[in-house]
Amino acid sequence: MPSERDLEKYAELAVRVGINVQQGQTLVVTAPLTAADLVRGIARKAYEAGAKNVHVEWNDEQLTQIKYKLAPDEAFTEYPMFRARGWEEFAENGAGFLSIYSPNPDLLSGIDPQRVATATKTAGIALQGWRNYTMAHRVSWSLISTPTPEWAGKIFPDLPAAEAESRLWELILKAVRVDRDDPVAAWKAHNARLAKTVDYLNRKQYKQLVYRAEGTDLTVDMPHNHVWHGGSTENEKGVTFNPNMPTEEVFTMPHKDGANGVVRSTRPLNHGGNLIEGFSLRFENGKVTDFSADKGYDTLKLLLDTDEGARKLGELALVPHRSPISETNLIFYNTLFDENASCHFALGRAYPTTIQGGTGMTKEQLEANGANDSLVHVDFMMGGPDLNIDGVTADGRKEPIFREGNWAIELD
Ligand code: ZN
Ligand code: ZN
Repeated sequence: MPSERDLEKYAELAVRVGINVQQGQTLVVTAPLTAADLVRGIARKAYEAGAKNVHVEWNDEQLTQIKYKLAPDEAFTEYPMFRARGWEEFAENGAGFLSIYSPNPDLLSGIDPQRVATATKTAGIALQGWRNYTMAHRVSWSLISTPTPEWAGKIFPDLPAAEAESRLWELILKAVRVDRDDPVAAWKAHNARLAKTVDYLNRKQYKQLVYRAEGTDLTVDMPHNHVWHGGSTENEKGVTFNPNMPTEEVFTMPHKDGANGVVRSTRPLNHGGNLIEGFSLRFENGKVTDFSADKGYDTLKLLLDTDEGARKLGELALVPHRSPISETNLIFYNTLFDENASCHFALGRAYPTTIQGGTGMTKEQLEANGANDSLVHVDFMMGGPDLNIDGVTADGRKEPIFREGNWAIELD
């Protein structure tokens, strides 16, 4: 288990680098009960940093499971509107949103996936107003993880429970650089490195990316004026924050109507408490027209049927195979970790920040510029040691971006 000192460093990192809490700001934390020690530390650090208020919402997976097992169907068609409005009000007043994300990948196995899909969609609709703030980076938000016994047990099924949890703690603290003497400074350097790659790709403005790997043969059109991001970003007040900790990706949006070919997943996808594994998606003019899955087909189908935009891509992200999380050689069954070990796409909504002027555009303008819209945004992993990616320039030349899973570009 982590030392008190490490927990304190992690709390400080979340407050100072994840959200970058400002004087007089409210910090909203959602966390599992199992993260209580860390959350108390976060509250302490946040007040020390000048927070006006720290509002904590606890969640408990056992309660979630009880509800899915026993509540009537109608329960999943309602969302508490006081919560949706409250979150929007927090955002309107410039609060920062820190989520501790540690789902048990098997939490809802055995539960009718239709129930889960209904609940996800209901929440998606209710929280749309709030999501407009977070997805456009109008407010600071950040996602971090802490181990739970169930999650650790899934990664290390052969270890005794306590050992599995300790091992996962170690990996998480390493991935977020809490093992360094000065994690805050280490993040500055890491963000600066990612920014270099981002600048390079932004200058290139490729018109297409071409992906080839076993089971993958996909060409993706890029919208005009797409913007790459990676590492830290700024909210509308110009305050820097880190949306994901850890993060190794650089990402942008593909054109919503521009994917053609087939892509095969390389890591399981934990979607709403169910795993989807070994799946392939066939795209025609941006839209999934055919799909298969070794496991979790029904969950995948429900995800794709959420709405029109759930069948189209809203994000593409590049992560070298030779990177810290990938090199653990572990499957984390947690998108925050697996997406930072692998190139990925997201089905669903695009980040308005990934097109020039996007945060000031209307829904219609975003669409006209190629940005996908949906109630969902679900990352799935497709990178691996055999992935090659080429960028096609405006004048039709092909340039290598990835060779055998790793960067093929030269940065100064
Ligand atoms: Zn991503
Ligand atoms: Zn994403």
